[in-house]
Amino acid sequence: MKKAVYPGSFDPITQGHVDIIERLTHIFSDITVLVAQSSQKSAEFTALERKILIEKSLGPLKGVRVDIYEGLTIDYMAKNQAQVIVRGLRAVSDFEYEMTMASMNKKLAPEIETMLVFARPEYYYISSRGVKEVARNGGALEGLVPAPVIDAVLSKFKNTPKNRKA
Ligand code: ADP
Repeated sequence: MKKAVYPGSFDPITQGHVDIIERLTHIFSDITVLVAQSSQKSAEFTALERKILIEKSLGPLKGVRVDIYEGLTIDYMAKNQAQVIVRGLRAVSDFEYEMTMASMNKKLAPEIETMLVFARPEYYYISSRGVKEVARNGGALEGLVPAPVIDAVLSKFKNTPKNRKA
């Protein structure tokens, strides 16, 4: 069975991500959720915080592990003998970015395949960025992110003007 890697920022993990990972367990027996640590892209949560939130959110899912990597996903895959990159696709707006990245990876590592999984319709509007925007403005996060993430996001944003108690 091929090994799959689901790379992303997961800043933080949302219900959309969880759904993709759960669906992958029906296809692959060895899945790594790979938290990208990037010095270029600024994140709200540290890579370790994001990893811990993913682990808490997934619970004991068979065949799934979470790892952190700084660098190219294809290099991580070569080191870990993984063959398939999985990415999620929400709206058409995701498509161009995903296609460019898949094409770049194909050029750099022809032996690796990228697989795109469509977001479930009820989750297609959920993004980590949207979740942070809602939290920053005091909105409810139920149904958008797993329960362990709600507490973490609320405590991260408790001092924004909309959330500060007078
Ligand atoms: P990145 O910064 O690498 O795009 P994200 O954490 O935003 O990292 O997303 C990781 C992957 O999960 C991407 O392929 C993205 O399209 C996908 N994804 C994000 N949100 C959802 C969702 N609600 N449903 C399905 N896939 C999603």
